[in-house]
Amino acid sequence: MRIFTASLATETNTFAPLPTGLASYRERGYHAAGTHPDHMTFFGAPLWALRLRAPERGWTVIEGMVAAAQPSGITTREAWTTLRDELLADLRAAMPVDVVLLGLHGAMVADGCDDCEGELLTKVREIVGPDVVVGAELDPHNHLTPAKVSMADVLVAFKEYPHTDILERAHELVDLCVGKAEGRLRPVAAVADVGAVFMMHTTRQPARGFIDRIQAMEGQDGVLSISVTQGFPWGDVPEMGSRVLVYTDGDASAGQRLARTLADELYALREQLGSTMLDIDAALDAALAEPAGPVVLADGADNPGGGGAGDATFVLRRMVERGLTDAALGPLWDPMAVQIAFEAGEGARLSMRLGGKTGPMSGEPLDARVTVLALRRRMRMTGLAGTPMALGDCALLRVEPGIDVVVISQRQQAMGVDLFTGIGCDPKSKHIVVVKSQQHFMAEYGPIAARVIHVDSPGSVTSDLRSLPYVKARRTIWPLNT
Ligand SMILES: [Zn+2]
Repeated sequence: MRIFTASLATETNTFAPLPTGLASYRERGYHAAGTHPDHMTFFGAPLWALRLRAPERGWTVIEGMVAAAQPSGITTREAWTTLRDELLADLRAAMPVDVVLLGLHGAMVADGCDDCEGELLTKVREIVGPDVVVGAELDPHNHLTPAKVSMADVLVAFKEYPHTDILERAHELVDLCVGKAEGRLRPVAAVADVGAVFMMHTTRQPARGFIDRIQAMEGQDGVLSISVTQGFPWGDVPEMGSRVLVYTDGDASAGQRLARTLADELYALREQLGSTMLDIDAALDAALAEPAGPVVLADGADNPGGGGAGDATFVLRRMVERGLTDAALGPLWDPMAVQIAFEAGEGARLSMRLGGKTGPMSGEPLDARVTVLALRRRMRMTGLAGTPMALGDCALLRVEPGIDVVVISQRQQAMGVDLFTGIGCDPKSKHIVVVKSQQHFMAEYGPIAARVIHVDSPGSVTSDLRSLPYVKARRTIWPLNT
């Protein structure tokens, strides 16, 4: 069996200020055909699953391009067409193949294309024809369009948020697609629209129980796979919203009934699936009132993983104005500040203008007195499922009166605790730790936190969805219709 694999992925926040050009892909993770490194990359999990299993199964695996960019604003037309055409050229060169397995996100929007993965899968299908099995792994924060579903034989989304299960889902994708190629399985898709859009935090109930239950259904009664599309509300496209995708073994009507039932259950749970939030001052009050730390505050509105710039100052400014000490914050994306810190050197005390440089959704820059506590070149953080994440050159700055801020050069959200410990700051020793992340931080910071508080701050990834200036998305879904 000949299997082709490749990846092209980003999550597009159409409201975010930073465009996503070719450099954004090449910086985060670009590997031309045949050059993927010897570790799993975040959207290269299908490739990695195939590397692990091909030797014993005797498959011939042809590895195409793997390219992924940090979530940001709309992908430029040049980046989209260049990378799309490179992936398709790799596929043409690999033909004939029996199976195509792609690592995609599902919420990639380019200048002139609202459904990049739908278009990519359509072009893949044109190349391979109707009989080759085409499968893709998706992020659950996708836009599940009819083009995606109809052009692929199987789509499998991560179930966990934080996305800790990328490899497990990739193995399932391999099993289902090879099963179809060998004639053992006949996956038939059924989609049900929830009529809402929500973030589903699987670290707590009721989302945890729902995911456990659908996972237990897989492999029973002809149900092959169940994926929940949470949707990505910061992408203004016509198909934005939550959906349930069920594959049964040849029983379309049973799949449709199950998808509808599960979608209705999710609609009933919609207000409980995310997290309650406090505004900045209420969150700081609540954190200070806790007898012991660390209290972890999530600044999700500036989450680079959702397209936020990562340089917003709204929370940090209030911490400084309130005179907080015994606190840490990270990561703050400000390459210019890092450069200045390196120039000044460890131990230097100076005035510095921090953050707030990208646009109004990042707030005003913060003018502060800082001490350079530590400097690291080309620092890395442990990402989800052990995938390494580059942070570029980094500085640990003590912002007066006493907030230790990890400033980074490559945009990234907080995932591993080594974001702090890797530069000499122990978050467990702080009373308050602010992380720029919506939910992925929970995998490592949840276990060390005395309490976790989600902060309702302004920013590109605001939780106030009704404030977003949608043009294309349906306003008939919850909560946009409230
Ligand atoms: Zn996601």
